[in-house]
Amino acid sequence: MEKIVSFCKRKGFIFQSSSIYGGIGGFYDYGPLGSQMKKNIKDNWWNFMVNTRANVVGLDSAIIVNPKVWEASGHLENFTDPLTECRKCHKRFRADHLIEGCGLELSQIKCPECNGDLMDVRNFNLMLKTFIGPVEDSSSIAYLRPETAQAIFINFKNVLDTQRLKIPFGIAQIGKAFRNEITPGNFVFRTREFEQMEMEFFIKPGEQEKWFKYWLDERIRWYTDILGIKKENLRIKETPKEDLAHYAIACADIEYNFPSMGWSEIEGVASRGDYDLSQHEKYSGEDLKYFDEAKGEKYIPYVIEPSCGVDRTMLALICDAYEELEKGRSGDSNATEIVLKLNSNISPIKIAVLPLVKNKEEITSKAKQVFNLLSPCFVSEYDETGTIGKRYRRQDEIGTPFCVTIDFDTLNDNAVTVRNRDTMGQERILIKDLMEYFNKNV
Ligand code: ATP
Repeated sequence: MEKIVSFCKRKGFIFQSSSIYGGIGGFYDYGPLGSQMKKNIKDNWWNFMVNTRANVVGLDSAIIVNPKVWEASGHLENFTDPLTECRKCHKRFRADHLIEGCGLELSQIKCPECNGDLMDVRNFNLMLKTFIGPVEDSSSIAYLRPETAQAIFINFKNVLDTQRLKIPFGIAQIGKAFRNEITPGNFVFRTREFEQMEMEFFIKPGEQEKWFKYWLDERIRWYTDILGIKKENLRIKETPKEDLAHYAIACADIEYNFPSMGWSEIEGVASRGDYDLSQHEKYSGEDLKYFDEAKGEKYIPYVIEPSCGVDRTMLALICDAYEELEKGRSGDSNATEIVLKLNSNISPIKIAVLPLVKNKEEITSKAKQVFNLLSPCFVSEYDETGTIGKRYRRQDEIGTPFCVTIDFDTLNDNAVTVRNRDTMGQERILIKDLMEYFNKNV
């Protein structure tokens, strides 16, 4: 994991936030490559969950909502983690994390930092508080949302009234969420500001088993077939019945086998019954039932919720794709070479356009023409500095699937060399055929 963290910083994927001021715990910034890769993950999720399904629509709600929402959803009362504090150094810890797997009671455990005694556990609410308007009092308190899902429930009626949807249907949303985690850590795995990709799929009560299985299978298909994550690094962990939240019918985590941390959740799929809509109906006084005209039935739909974190998915993707290859793969270096074997739909840069030399005007201007041709359709990079071997390796490291080299022959035959990241195979393609070639291969 240390290698991955320094790789992400060195190549401009992820930086510690506010690093010039000494950082701030639990916040990260995504650099030029990271922001593009994150966008690719979100675009692929949206395409898979929304655009390719006739019965799923999107939503982009406000981050701050009426605080009553959090009262109704139970977050104000129950969205807590067990907190303990060291009496000596005053560091704070998640009590459940300290106990996990060690077979001891908390009273038998000492502070992992200074061996001091730990205080009794108290419940710590994870919602970040702020104030709306110029007066800071109890009537102006608001919360940064700890999940995107509740805004979907409170818009259920708006969407239903405007979209002519019939059950089963889904409402999906991507957006920032905030949790005042007691112990953020493991790089972007546990942060205080992160992004979620969530969908609420509304179904007829009684059909929850079928749809829970359907979405669990679909979500695994997204990770393996669309993102290209290795099957052996993914597993499903079902929550035992006795550990389920009181309103949940079933719940399963999709876990990734991270370096150092081992198996850890990247997504939760939950069968939530009619809990959320019923609560909002009760607290708002609005009728949130669905009317099935054909059958003349009126009911509060049940819900299946696949809830996935963008940041954890990105970390899993980088861990999965990162390969260190034995020295000299490309024959002109003895150093270990890094190749980021990302699927081309996820790679931040799809095509690197490389003039063989930088001091020959005919070649660089031809290369710029090729860049102008490709870049409106494929995220491309123009790079003329360093030897061609070094430039290939630079692109391999950041996961660029194709390099296009413009050389002296190009000036006569209007063809370029296309190099494949994984096979290092090279083919000669006419410039006029490049768009078709990349449309097929990216
Ligand atoms: P954990 O048990 O690890 O705290 P959770 O079960 O509370 O996670 P959910 O509430 O199910 O997480 O949120 C859905 C998804 O949002 C998670 O699977 C994860 O990908 C992401 N997520 C949740 N909390 C964080 C966080 N603090 N930092 C980054 N991603 C997060």
